[in-house]
Amino acid sequence: MSVSPCDLCGHDKFEIIGRTDRHGAPLDTAVCTHCGLVRHAAVPTEAELNRFYSTTYREDYNGEKVPGARRIMRAWNNGQRICGQVGPLLEPGCRVLEVGAGIGCTVKVFERQGFRAEGIDPGGEFLKFSRDQLNASVQITDLYQLPEDQSFEAVLLVHVIEHLRSPRQALEHIAGLLKPGGMFYVECPNLQAPFARRKRLFHSAHIHNFVPSTLQMLAESCGFKLRKRFGDDQDPNLQMLFQHSGSCELQIDEDNYRRTVEQLGRSDFLPYHARVRYVTDRMRKLATYADEHLRARRFVSDLINRCGDEAPPQVSGKAA
Ligand SMILES: [Zn+2]
Repeated sequence: MSVSPCDLCGHDKFEIIGRTDRHGAPLDTAVCTHCGLVRHAAVPTEAELNRFYSTTYREDYNGEKVPGARRIMRAWNNGQRICGQVGPLLEPGCRVLEVGAGIGCTVKVFERQGFRAEGIDPGGEFLKFSRDQLNASVQITDLYQLPEDQSFEAVLLVHVIEHLRSPRQALEHIAGLLKPGGMFYVECPNLQAPFARRKRLFHSAHIHNFVPSTLQMLAESCGFKLRKRFGDDQDPNLQMLFQHSGSCELQIDEDNYRRTVEQLGRSDFLPYHARVRYVTDRMRKLATYADEHLRARRFVSDLINRCGDEAPPQVSGKAA
């Protein structure tokens, strides 16, 4: 099989570890036998990817073209969680950019906490909500349109990296956006978390699947040093804060390939404690959904009122 080289280590030997996605549709997933990075066996071309995201993606992936109230409330709460864990480690009032801002709630949360927060998103449909209703500083553009002029103190990349053809290209560009010593927060699904059986793991929109080791190796080879990891090994998401170091060292974790394959094999037979954790997490999630259903509409209208009151002076109000 002819494959594109591994985005992390550049080697080109892969082993197939999955034949279907989480919905049972055909999807070949492979692991790099050198570094252990897991990805689609066939990485889509730029043209294929553009077509996917510009047409059916929002509807396929989210089932919505405009964000619904529950989605907005969830995004806001998520933004508060991220700001709560990352904010105290940033310089107060510093310039923060979210790449792939989605609905744009996280940008607004950071702004309300005193940061100069901005967001970009290439899709943009969801972004219109926060731009028009929350007065957030967001724009529809692509990461690579931003000049590498070291003008940000922090960059956030939340549930984006797994969708990219080349996470390395994105991280190298982000390093160029950051001032020396700037912070980079990345969050993505944790393939190592025993949250689902192997056949339920893979997603057609997630081109790359990370474990702690591959995310750290990649970031460190793009000029970052790990400052803090949030959550534990059971957490369904990796949440890592890196600091720009300027030193790009690819240090392969030699044991990662073997460990990753072994852990994925084990996820077919979840140990008892992992199953209990899965069920309790799931129940908590369902309880949250029920709560969201009741509160979301009210929450969003209050949010729009609050943020509407904070409109920047250059935005003219309604004509009398
Ligand atoms: Zn590799």
